[in-house]
Amino acid sequence: MSETSKSLVTKRWPGGIIQVKVPLPFSLKYVNSYLLHDERGYTIVDPGLHTPEAVQAWQEALDANGIAIGSIHTIVLTHQHPDHYGLAGWFQEQTGGAPVYISEASYAYTQRLWGSDAGASFAADLTELYEAHGMPQPVLDEIAPHLDSFIPKVSPQPKVTFLEAGQTIEMGGLSWQTIDTPGHAKGQLCFYASDVKRMLVGDQVLPDITPNISVVPGDGEDQLEQFLDSLEQIRKLEVELAFPGHRDPFTNYKERIEQLIAHHERRLTQMYSLIQAGANTGYTLCMQLFGERIAGNTHNLRFAMSETLAHLFHLEKCGRIERSLQDAKVYFTMRTDQQQ
Ligand SMILES: [Zn+2]
Ligand SMILES: [Zn+2]
Repeated sequence: MSETSKSLVTKRWPGGIIQVKVPLPFSLKYVNSYLLHDERGYTIVDPGLHTPEAVQAWQEALDANGIAIGSIHTIVLTHQHPDHYGLAGWFQEQTGGAPVYISEASYAYTQRLWGSDAGASFAADLTELYEAHGMPQPVLDEIAPHLDSFIPKVSPQPKVTFLEAGQTIEMGGLSWQTIDTPGHAKGQLCFYASDVKRMLVGDQVLPDITPNISVVPGDGEDQLEQFLDSLEQIRKLEVELAFPGHRDPFTNYKERIEQLIAHHERRLTQMYSLIQAGANTGYTLCMQLFGERIAGNTHNLRFAMSETLAHLFHLEKCGRIERSLQDAKVYFTMRTDQQQ
């Protein structure tokens, strides 16, 4: 990762918001952190994944902007995914104990995956889910080690303060309303400053790429519906500049939301057509949809599998397909009352 310093980018946006592109060792390349300045110092939103490259990038970003790490007084997390949460504890230590704000539901997820008495049970639940939906054994064997590989990347873990939807939080001298936006991540919060029509959107609305919708064992059955419902809620807001977790801030907020809704409609239609052509397991459908793009990459495969299941569970909940069990594997078929 010797290119880290070359790829480091910080950019100032209206309102003095500083975007820091923090490197990630995944296809996503980087996560956006945002620094918001007020008279007390800085609030940092979503500090990134804890890797040596990210720490180095942060040191360069702070130096380049003349920011002392001790002037960061507050750490805010949109959601629990390791690429956003991972450095929160490190920053808390480095700043001498800045509070870390996160929703209770998001924090519960971190404890299920990385808490002292968790981890193994989540991996077992996820492996069991994937196995039931047809993932073959050699691929299943990769899931638990892959999940474990994140533990150092989210350590040390922060002491947190809960922030809930409907509360407001002061950041950068403005009042931001917190909005619950589940679907991509249960408990994800977006932050909306109505005075200036700006919104920190986490991974809820991303430009160029579609936010992953993942089935998470124990988080309810229809994550896609939650995602679409929360998009409908936030689409009503007037937003002139949106700050996403990945890619660059964007102005076509409503249009982008409509594109995302249309994308999932197309994906549902595509999946329904594949099922119309014959009974299938989640894994077979996942490979038909994502195929070579995910081969040999456990991280991408996990996202693709969970996304496929999210669409299947939604079609099932809408009464368009149904499941049957054969040899302990779940097969999806068209609902018999819908066949002609
Ligand atoms: Zn995320
Ligand atoms: Zn992310």
